[in-house]
Amino acid sequence: MTGRSRFRLPRRRNGQALGTVLRGVARVEPPPCRAVLLDMDDTIFDHSLTCRAAIAALRRTEPYLRARPLEALWQEYLGLLDAVGPRVGVGSRSVAEARTERWRRIAASCGRELPGPAAVELSRRYRDHYQRLRRAVPGARQLLEHLHRHVPVVVVTNNEVAEQEEKVRFLGIGPLLDGLVVSEAVGVGKPDPRIFEVAVSAANVPASETTMLGDSWTSDVLGARAAGIRPVWFNRFRRPRPDGGSVAELRSLRPVRRAVDLLLGPRETAPNRLVAREDASEL
Ligand SMILES: [Mg+2]
Repeated sequence: MTGRSRFRLPRRRNGQALGTVLRGVARVEPPPCRAVLLDMDDTIFDHSLTCRAAIAALRRTEPYLRARPLEALWQEYLGLLDAVGPRVGVGSRSVAEARTERWRRIAASCGRELPGPAAVELSRRYRDHYQRLRRAVPGARQLLEHLHRHVPVVVVTNNEVAEQEEKVRFLGIGPLLDGLVVSEAVGVGKPDPRIFEVAVSAANVPASETTMLGDSWTSDVLGARAAGIRPVWFNRFRRPRPDGGSVAELRSLRPVRRAVDLLLGPRETAPNRLVAREDASEL
């Protein structure tokens, strides 16, 4: 490794320099990161802020949704994503059905009880806005471009295959990925270690030499750690840390160089030095 930072990028896919000699004493360093796994939603694809923009657009034509503040509806919708999610991999509820149920509940919270077809229609309108307004997380594409030059990059995500493949096409990141591992295809979702095993196999690198970046503490951080993968928590909304600081944290994908250094850096570095804070001048 070269340069001033301890987090310099390993330049070769088959990083070989595992040991250094410091003042005559051999020091064995942990293996470098030789593959990166990334979550899709709210790590690469900006799901949360697209939701907010789509809800704001929907409120312009659905006056009863203005009975509550936009911020409240947005936060409730994000909460319902976990409470009323699809049962991908275990059957019985599709993504579309879960979305309709969420909007039935949101409408009810605004005082409007919607019959089934009306809830389906509201969900469809929301979906139209969402598709029109969707975007990448700032810095995501540049990060993938940098990572792809040096290590295998695999997206591991909970959702339906068709939906996630379409996001990859929309974002134009297919050539930058070495794999797309989706819970629907695997049959289990994060945090189940089995989906991480599939992702690690796609990268063709041992779990112990792999880093996982994701925004979900439970699915991405705890899931990766249970699978023997080094987790990095993507915490762009500044949520309180659930742990005492033992997991590296990234608050912005920009500046990209700093994010790359954090993801590919040596894993023995003290956790409180692993927080890559955003540079406001580059946001
Ligand atoms: Mg996510």
